[in-house]
Amino acid sequence: MNTSDILVIGGGIAGLSAAAALSNHARIAVLEAEDQVGYHSSGRSATMLHYALGDRLVRALTLASRPFFDDPPASFGGVPLGRRMPVLIHARDDEREELDALQAELAQFAQLERLDSAGVHELCPLLREDATHGIADRNGIRLDPHALLQGNLRQLRSRGGELHAGQRAAAIEWAGGAWTVATEAGEHFSAPILINAAGSWADKIARLADVEPLGLQPKRRTIITFDAPVGTNLDSLPFAKTVGDELYFAPESGRLFASPMDEIASDPCDAQPDELEVALAAYRMEERTIVKVERIHSRWAGLRTFTPDLHPAVGFAGDAVGFFWLAGQGGFGLQTSPAVAAIVESLIGGRPWPVPDVTADALSPLRLRA
Ligand SMILES: Cc1cc2nc3c(=O)[nH]c(=O)nc-3n(C[C@H](O)[C@H](O)[C@H](O)COP(=O)(O)OP(=O)(O)OC[C@H]3O[C@@H](n4cnc5c(N)ncnc54)[C@H](O)[C@@H]3O)c2cc1C
Repeated sequence: MNTSDILVIGGGIAGLSAAAALSNHARIAVLEAEDQVGYHSSGRSATMLHYALGDRLVRALTLASRPFFDDPPASFGGVPLGRRMPVLIHARDDEREELDALQAELAQFAQLERLDSAGVHELCPLLREDATHGIADRNGIRLDPHALLQGNLRQLRSRGGELHAGQRAAAIEWAGGAWTVATEAGEHFSAPILINAAGSWADKIARLADVEPLGLQPKRRTIITFDAPVGTNLDSLPFAKTVGDELYFAPESGRLFASPMDEIASDPCDAQPDELEVALAAYRMEERTIVKVERIHSRWAGLRTFTPDLHPAVGFAGDAVGFFWLAGQGGFGLQTSPAVAAIVESLIGGRPWPVPDVTADALSPLRLRA
């Protein structure tokens, strides 16, 4: 039997960042079903930090996370966690009011520039002429998920914490003041506190532990990569997003990537791209830009998992001792991970509350029981 103070189920960004933060206070063990960390959602994202995602609460968590990305702790090994990439939200004439409303909301979080048609096309020459309005945040960050996952892992291990990869939790039991997890590989792990950071599988983990699920809904999103037109200066391109949730694209390893921002309800699984959404990505790219998607170089899909009110669930369950929810990070789990990990550290490790603009009640899973 492997014993620790805190057992974390899930080696994605949620589980690893919480584990790294808590390793200051306690002996931590992380169980990850796959052989490598970040195999599911955390390794399949668009890796962007921007404020057009989510609502006020998500933006506040993102803003509170920025200092961590700008100046990572020394224990992360001095590796940058991302690079500056401008964010451009663009609109046609008929979408102008939507852009105005978004600008008013985002202005509290980022320094925005309002762009006319010339400004939009100077920042992103690939957009069609009908992109006549824009707001730009020159301070966006294209995150490096590998550096982020490995930095957290490095911090965890340097403080004596352990990752057990290839250990899928199969049975969970509360007995004698501790949770005991039996894995498919036949090993047993035990701790008085269990953190459920199993991403799309978090409700499944709750059922195994006889805890009431939260009603999480995983939603599939698709990304394709393809060549940019010859002569495109990829280094200067922004992350460009339609004001509505239709399309985003950005440079990606010498090519372009694009997503039709699909949200297809799915069971928890190893998500695979569907031909319809792949075709939709190419169609919307050609509809909104001058790019011809001649050949799709690669494609992938991942799950974004939401609670019923679209806010993450972070806190102890009301119906089980020592069972801590860390789920529902939707499409913003990377960019909010430092602030959310600090919140976990506060709620479990007794540290001061780190994000004054967000309350513990707003994140508590208990709010979803009302
Ligand atoms: C296409 C796409 C674009 C996105 N773009 C962005 C973006 O631009 N910015 C941003 O911030 N976020 C983005 N996201 C969202 C972000 O990727 C997620 O919010 C985040 O990765 C969720 O992290 P997680 O650790 O909760 O989940 P995961 O990374 O899925 O980790 C959960 C882990 O739990 C493990 N697990 C499950 N069951 C068990 C078990 N029984 N035993 C042991 N382990 C188990 C799984 O194997 C998995 O590794 C995007 C997501 C997608 C799919």
